[in-house]
Amino acid sequence: MNPEQTSQLRGAQGRHITNLRVSVTDRCNFRCIYCMPEEMTWIPRGEILTFEEIQRVLGIVSRLGIDKVRLTGGEPTLRSDLPDLIRMIHAVEGIRDVGLTTNGFRLSTLARPLYDAGLRRLNISLDTLQRHKFHQMARRDAFEQVMEGLWEAGRLGFHPIKLNAVTMRGYTEDEALDFAELARERDFQIRFIEFMPLDADGIWGPESFVPGQDIVDRINAVFPLEPVSDNGPEPTTRFRFRDGSQGEIGIIPSVSNPFCESCNRVRITADGKLRTCLFATTETDLRDSLRNGCSDDEIARRFAEAVYRKEPGHLINQKGFVKPERNMSRIGG
Ligand code: SAM
Ligand code: SF4
Repeated sequence: MNPEQTSQLRGAQGRHITNLRVSVTDRCNFRCIYCMPEEMTWIPRGEILTFEEIQRVLGIVSRLGIDKVRLTGGEPTLRSDLPDLIRMIHAVEGIRDVGLTTNGFRLSTLARPLYDAGLRRLNISLDTLQRHKFHQMARRDAFEQVMEGLWEAGRLGFHPIKLNAVTMRGYTEDEALDFAELARERDFQIRFIEFMPLDADGIWGPESFVPGQDIVDRINAVFPLEPVSDNGPEPTTRFRFRDGSQGEIGIIPSVSNPFCESCNRVRITADGKLRTCLFATTETDLRDSLRNGCSDDEIARRFAEAVYRKEPGHLINQKGFVKPERNMSRIGG
């Protein structure tokens, strides 16, 4: 490998790219209204990266400075033998941090094998603590099953457990305090993610959007919060409880206060396309490179060049914004 490739990955804006999200499937057993349409055509299985291909890419990019990987989807736990992939990633030199983002539905049985495979960092999507609202948002009556998975993960000792709640007007506001109480009782980190225009049904807009700060204000009025000063390069604006209670509240203000200038992540879709921004309108086809006999050096060069062209930022709410063709489940959130 030439010296340029062994140097750290940088975008043209000087951003230091260390964080990779890998989607392992576009399939999902939920149909969350902010993400997927009711009917979806899946990517044919032969077009999805194999575990060996994912491991090879990670081996290449870890030498470029990627050290943090999160598996996502679609719903990653629908991919057979996921614990094997966790083990294969742990075997890649240079990857120091592996996490999983899941809707939690399969965790009541899968949490143990995942834990045994060495996984510790878990993000579970939970937008509401009310069964009927869960059914409306996920379009599946699966609240109890998800909560069982969450309790099992807690029992096994996954840490940290972060709960992702997409903020939507009419859904999230009146549950802010219930989420805060859950964080305090169970030592969870609740992260309110602002709804982004990556849904499939075109429901994003001023009527459905709630700024994360509104949710923080509601919690702060009852459970006073203070900022966590050591925020690191993460996009989450974090708060702890001023009375010293366990648990944490965070917001990901992608729309109201974008953090593009410090964004250190890129993504690989389940069908092997490198996306350098959630809102990218172009992609780099790594699957073709993997399957057409390219050397590791060549793949590293293509990866680094694409990262160098990483978009300066998204233009949500500005003139010139173009919604990507892929919805969130096909990108890998
Ligand atoms: N199926 C898994 C899950 O739901 O956790 C992983 C994939 S999902 C696409 C990853 C994350 O993206 C979830 O936390 C989900 O809430 C979030 N998400 C999906 N669509 C979104 C949107 N339009 N705006 C903001 N977050 C979104
Ligand atoms: Fe599936 Fe996750 Fe999208 Fe919900 S957010 S539809 S669980 S991929």
